[in-house]
Amino acid sequence: MKCDFCKKKVEELFLGKIKGTFFMKGKIKKAVCADCQKGSSLEDLKKKVGL
Ligand SMILES: [Zn+2]
Repeated sequence: MKCDFCKKKVEELFLGKIKGTFFMKGKIKKAVCADCQKGSSLEDLKKKVGL
């Protein structure tokens, strides 16, 4: 799993969780790592990944 913002690898935790967050829109699933989450609002991040 790669971060859709910085394109770095996102660390995967157990039970399908990642060190970061997922944004879902219909069938589209985008991952954003914890580092990219810092300093940006969720709305900003959604726009940046194209949702
Ligand atoms: Zn990132």
